[in-house]
Amino acid sequence: MSTNATWIDQDLAVVWHPCTQMKDHEWLPLIPIRRGQGVWLEDYDGQRYLDAISSWWVNLFGHSHPYINNALRAQLDSLEHVLLAGFTHAPVIRLSQRLVKLAPPGLTRCFYADNGSSAIEVALKMSFHFHRNQGQSLKTKFITLSNSYHGETLGALAVGDVALYKQTYAPLLMQAITVPSPDCYLREPGSGWREHSIARFEVMRTALQQHAHELCAVIVEPLVQCAGHMRMYDPVYLKLLRQACDEVGVHLIVDEIATGFGRTGTLFACEQADISPDILCLGKGLTGGYLPLSVVLSTETIYQAFYADYAQLSGFLHSHSYTGNPLACTAANASLDIFEQQPILSRNAQLARYMLDAVQELRAHPHVSEIRQQGMILAIELIKNKAKGEPYPWQERRGLRVYQHALAQGVLLRPLGNVIYFMPPYVINHDDIDLLVRVTTDGIHFATNEA
Ligand SMILES: *Cc1c(COP(=O)(O)O)cnc(C)c1O
Repeated sequence: MSTNATWIDQDLAVVWHPCTQMKDHEWLPLIPIRRGQGVWLEDYDGQRYLDAISSWWVNLFGHSHPYINNALRAQLDSLEHVLLAGFTHAPVIRLSQRLVKLAPPGLTRCFYADNGSSAIEVALKMSFHFHRNQGQSLKTKFITLSNSYHGETLGALAVGDVALYKQTYAPLLMQAITVPSPDCYLREPGSGWREHSIARFEVMRTALQQHAHELCAVIVEPLVQCAGHMRMYDPVYLKLLRQACDEVGVHLIVDEIATGFGRTGTLFACEQADISPDILCLGKGLTGGYLPLSVVLSTETIYQAFYADYAQLSGFLHSHSYTGNPLACTAANASLDIFEQQPILSRNAQLARYMLDAVQELRAHPHVSEIRQQGMILAIELIKNKAKGEPYPWQERRGLRVYQHALAQGVLLRPLGNVIYFMPPYVINHDDIDLLVRVTTDGIHFATNEA
């Protein structure tokens, strides 16, 4: 019978893992997972882990969901894949119809890719190409927020701002215009989220006015900068941004790859600001966490700017081999069925309140500077010295200590630097949350007690 050890040696001989300094695995054990069920993962030694981060923010309804499994099995027997150029299939048509209905009003066209970063590349190219097709070839630039994250491919990295991922590759990247984020962790004492977000918008307004002639679009993560340490801001910022983009004729690209499908409490975060972007990117939870798929929704105006006789050479010739894969679309349709069949969002609202109540005691912890939440995303920021506002140096890897401590207690957390967060599958129950909070609290004591 195989154990963790069986797989670890074989893995480390041939697999190069994502987002990992591989040398860490000389002392940090890799965990081979044998199976998943609901919020639980199980390794080859029989140890179980509560997946509190939805396997990198993709899983919505738990692992091995019987309904999604059945839908996939059925699709597998008829069509696994076919190219989407010149051909089509029922799962992609059905999914597109549903997304157009569910997305903020005005988004009428679905262009597919197979991961979030690729969706961002599509969005950037589409916006640039739109303006070019309109005869505005001087529009070549993008505005992005500080601390933003849009993925790892070169275009996506260029419009992101997390130094850890970006800095090394800076010489390869196009230049974006970076405007300070409305990040409410940085607000003045006594100032509220709304007030801070409104004040921060003035820099954006100025940048928009100054650069309008050369701008394709502004790209933002709505309400939560997830990879940027789960920093959050008020919906009012999106409302102001939508108005200002319209005033100067610049696209608004909203990246809901992480926030989409209920994470922030509403199906899409945009709804809380009551806005529609010109271009919307979705990924991650789109398939319920089953298969890689992403989609870029655009307005009819954008679509029509590409629609012309072939000889005008104005078509959008972007493609990926697995664009609109039928199995992935089937998983996405099954996931949307679950949203239709069950009161997911109202149950999540209740779970979100339960999570927040459960962490109340931590607010007084001498090394917790803030607890913040948007729907099913709850973040706990650790700090070295609360009074001085002095953060822990990154070299101390405090979050990693929480990670190790939690794993030993059967919980999978994956802190971002000094920020611990919960982004669980929606099938988590109160007992699971109690365990999660108990282990997190222990982990924080453990990680902040040592020098
Ligand atoms: C994860 C993420 C991406 C990139 O998606 P991948 O599928 O990892 O390429 C882009 N934007 C946001 C906001 C994300 O969280």
